[in-house]
Amino acid sequence: MLKSTSCGSLTAEDAGKIVTLAGWVNRRRDHGSLVFIDVRDRDGLTQVVFNPEIAPEACEVAGQLRSEWVVQVEGEVRLRPEGTRNPNIPTGEVEVMASRAVPLNRSLTPPFYVNEDSEVDELLRMQYRYLDLRRARMRDMLILRHRVVKFIRDYLDERGFLEVETPILIKSTPEGARDYLVPSRLYPGSFYALPQSPQQLKQLLMAAGVEKYFQIARCFRDEDPRADRQPEHTQLDLEMSFVEEDDVLDLIEGLYTALIESVTPHKSLIKPFPRLTYAEAMASYGTDKPDLRFGMKMADLSDIAANTDFRVFTGAVQSGGIVKGFSAPGCAAYSRRQTDELIEFVKAWGARGLVTIALNGDGALEDLSAAQVRSAASRFLSVERIRQIARRTGADMGDMILIVAGAEKTTNQALSNLRHEMGRRLDMARPDLIAFAFVNDFPLFEWNENEGRWDAMHHAFSMPKYGSEKYIETDPGRVTGRLYDLVANGFELASGSIRIHTRELQERVFEVLGYTKEEVAERFGQLLTAFEYGAPPHGGIAPGIDRLLMVLTGMDNIRDVIAFPKTQNGIDPLFGAPSPVDQAQLDELKLRVLTTSH
Ligand code: ASP
Repeated sequence: MLKSTSCGSLTAEDAGKIVTLAGWVNRRRDHGSLVFIDVRDRDGLTQVVFNPEIAPEACEVAGQLRSEWVVQVEGEVRLRPEGTRNPNIPTGEVEVMASRAVPLNRSLTPPFYVNEDSEVDELLRMQYRYLDLRRARMRDMLILRHRVVKFIRDYLDERGFLEVETPILIKSTPEGARDYLVPSRLYPGSFYALPQSPQQLKQLLMAAGVEKYFQIARCFRDEDPRADRQPEHTQLDLEMSFVEEDDVLDLIEGLYTALIESVTPHKSLIKPFPRLTYAEAMASYGTDKPDLRFGMKMADLSDIAANTDFRVFTGAVQSGGIVKGFSAPGCAAYSRRQTDELIEFVKAWGARGLVTIALNGDGALEDLSAAQVRSAASRFLSVERIRQIARRTGADMGDMILIVAGAEKTTNQALSNLRHEMGRRLDMARPDLIAFAFVNDFPLFEWNENEGRWDAMHHAFSMPKYGSEKYIETDPGRVTGRLYDLVANGFELASGSIRIHTRELQERVFEVLGYTKEEVAERFGQLLTAFEYGAPPHGGIAPGIDRLLMVLTGMDNIRDVIAFPKTQNGIDPLFGAPSPVDQAQLDELKLRVLTTSH
């Protein structure tokens, strides 16, 4: 090794030792008589002192060194003089008195500061990713990501799981997204597809008797770019035989609890993880990804609203919609401008408007008088109605009730986003809290308005709940699936289900989804046949690793938790991919390019 110790490990106990360090010039300070260089490696920083009277040659070398040059330094560890110790870094008590220095490589002036966490244009960071990854924040992310994945592997290994690799070159495995295709040279005109997830493969592994499988799996989905999406992402893909819902959820809860307590102990959890049904989540939070870091539960006010003279309320109920709201604590004094902002906010989410009811004063709700109510709707709502609404939404004096009336879907969408916005404005989320929760009992099918057909809520392989399979043909919207999601802080972190394991039931589900017999045979034949050879009951889940890292690091950009991500537009600026290929390569594949985008 070109070094005897890392740059992050020296402490007062090492004083007097002769060490060799190797790393990058993080910062150089020339004090005339002395030169100080902070040498950095993956482990940390060590201050090196060059004194021309003690080591003139080393000092000469130090004079040439510039930021990000690579250097090897030998010298004696000594305690820093009193008053110059730096309690902010682990090596802050000591420094190395250089006796020898060897430049190992030069560096051009970097396009941005590596030694600072300053704002840098993202394209530039991605173009020079190797410099970006040298920065402390990104280095810490890589280390954390490694620890997370290692923890997961060890935890599952101890519980009898086998890690099995599944192919990247496979056949189209429909899971709702578009496939990436790879042309076959040996069979011109035929293509492999990259897996959208190893879903069918892990089910086949259950048919193979593996019983407990996992894989840190790469999934490829050719979807339209979106801020939090990447063309490829990593999942902890997991499947178990002979299980029911709670077995999978208990395993994941145990894993995530132990993981966070061990890897990010400064984070806190709600224990045990709340488990809500889809219906409960939609009723109380208007979304199936509730952020449980704060309260502000919603209440359905449709029955109270129907009994008023307020046309906004009665009209919504009469046309089959709902009236729903929640109470924002301590917001009674919101100004006109602030409430107007909230009105604009819900409109942007599709609502027709927002009714606000401010309860001014600090007495008891029972003594509420008309004079204490501030609302554009107060003319139409009696004090008794307002008191009912307040009780239902849990509002108190000093609070403001926020109500949306309209079609159920848009009302929920607008209100759940408004709840999120109020949580942010009121700074209600404890920054250290990761509020995990499971949502289960989703509908198996979802009506696709645009295409006029039933889609699978999750994917085609999920089992209907006992007793509800009888509606598959007659009333698909009524079938509950044995589906579950793991959510945290308003994000979906994982989806999974207990699977169908018989051909007959699986074919009935495919039929509702509109697949023809030929399509089923072509795409799913292998799975259906495997079901006929004694496939055991099984189920699984697939938590996203990138999303988990975002929650653990608090980073809100998915590209910041991936070593070499693509841009929002699916470009790799480091390699310049995607790119045209040589004519010879196309010829071998018998491919002809008809148009190019550049
Ligand atoms: N394959 C599914 C997905 O990628 C997860 C699962 O059902 O296990 O979303």
